Amino acid sequence: MRKALVAGNWKMHGRVDQNLKLIEALIPALSNLKEAVDIVVCPPLVYLSQVNELIANTSIALGAQDVSRFDRDGAHTGDCSADMLADVGASYVLVGHSERRSEQNDTDERVSQKLACLLKANLKPILCVGETLEQREAGQVEDVIATQIELAISGLSVDDLKELLIAYEPVWAIGTGKTASPEQAQDVHAYIRELLGARFGSGFAKQITILYGGSVKAANAAELFGQPDIDGGLIGGAALITEEFTAICSAAANSPKNG
Ligand code: PEP
Repeated sequence: MRKALVAGNWKMHGRVDQNLKLIEALIPALSNLKEAVDIVVCPPLVYLSQVNELIANTSIALGAQDVSRFDRDGAHTGDCSADMLADVGASYVLVGHSERRSEQNDTDERVSQKLACLLKANLKPILCVGETLEQREAGQVEDVIATQIELAISGLSVDDLKELLIAYEPVWAIGTGKTASPEQAQDVHAYIRELLGARFGSGFAKQITILYGGSVKAANAAELFGQPDIDGGLIGGAALITEEFTAICSAAANSPKNG
């Protein structure tokens, strides 16, 4: 059985004092959920060490929002390698988030290079994929998702991908307040599982964690997480609000699938 997972992507938000307040509120609020749901927080790069200290001795795990595509130390100004992320305590790393794809030219080729760096450093990549509204309206959802996944994992074997997680995040639903309906999200999650099953076998497809992301909030989380192929969420805006994030983690923990 797959364990539910909820990851909070803080994006470019936070300050030392705000991070302290948020984590100090989250620790007691989330403490009774740890058996049923894995919880990850992904602060901005500069705050990874601070947050890592704050969550020490709790079950909350640390994630980063991106990684360099270069795996060896060297002349890559502004970059941060997978080894460095691991060194400061990260265990999960987002890769291919749509905001990195659109704002920082994260092409499928770069996403694939980053994914390989993360796996080499024994980090757990959360590979983000999703279609734009135009692509959905043109009936291209499956093609877009298949291409993003195929190109990201090209050259990797089933053994390499044991730690991989996927987040389906329709671009039109990220930060817009528009959420995919539970049925729309389930359809794509089932398709991703089918795609991976055809490529790597049904055992692999059954065990891989596939998260939904895109305006998840307390009010819609339970219905989304109740879908058979949705194993939890990647949460942006709502991850910065203690009550919202706690309710979302609770919805994942209490999903009937976990019972
Ligand atoms: C995200 O940042 O991955 C995300 C899903 O954002 P939001 O929840 O704000 O739509």
